[in-house]
Amino acid sequence: MSDLHKYDAIAIDGPAASGKSTAARRLAKELGLIMVNSGEMYRTVALAVVQNEVDPSESVAVVNLLEEIDLHCAVEKGHSVVILEGTHPGEALRSDAVNAVVSQVAAVPEVRNLLVAAQRELLNLGDLVMEGRDIGSVVFPDTPYKIYIEASEEVRNQRRRAEGQVDEVSSRDRQDAERKNSPLVVAEGAQVIDSSELSIEEVVEAALALLRDRGWFERKGESATP
Ligand code: C5P
Repeated sequence: MSDLHKYDAIAIDGPAASGKSTAARRLAKELGLIMVNSGEMYRTVALAVVQNEVDPSESVAVVNLLEEIDLHCAVEKGHSVVILEGTHPGEALRSDAVNAVVSQVAAVPEVRNLLVAAQRELLNLGDLVMEGRDIGSVVFPDTPYKIYIEASEEVRNQRRRAEGQVDEVSSRDRQDAERKNSPLVVAEGAQVIDSSELSIEEVVEAALALLRDRGWFERKGESATP
């Protein structure tokens, strides 16, 4: 990581329901790092789009809305939170209405510029694990700690159904991978972990192995066997 920052970021990217959020949360807990869910930030803008009945395909209307809403990102009890109009949106971020429009909203360049800047700001608060789609490729391209977690489409759809969500992960993934601005890609230097056949413990172990290989623990002055 460039020494412009005092702190280091572990970037975890991957498609919807690949298991990256669970792995990122476990890793953050195990290493005592701030956990940042960047998807929630895009979901918050999408929720504002839904609540204000803005057409998500009208990028000018989305940008106008962005200027009107009161949205900010913070860290509370070691986790990122997004505050919209003074409150935590909570479960509304996972609604079907938000799932249906979030990829379209996230493709708007002004939305990404605003949220990427907010994500980079959070690194001033401490070492962190940040999960999303473009964390290793765009938000923190210089970090050596990059992981890309994938899983077969069948497994990912099963996981979403088990959570009781009607979320067409394949349609979101297609939009996220095909967009012009910061598409979902395996970032240069990222280690790919296929979680289809792995338990969460095995995914976390593979992530810890990468951190060991890339010198995270030496850099932090810690033993390499947390
Ligand atoms: O991670 P999650 O599935 O909650 O993300 C919701 C959506 O937010 C993604 O489908 C994607 O469109 C967008 N997103 C993004 N870049 C990120 C994180 C999420 O475009 N870094």
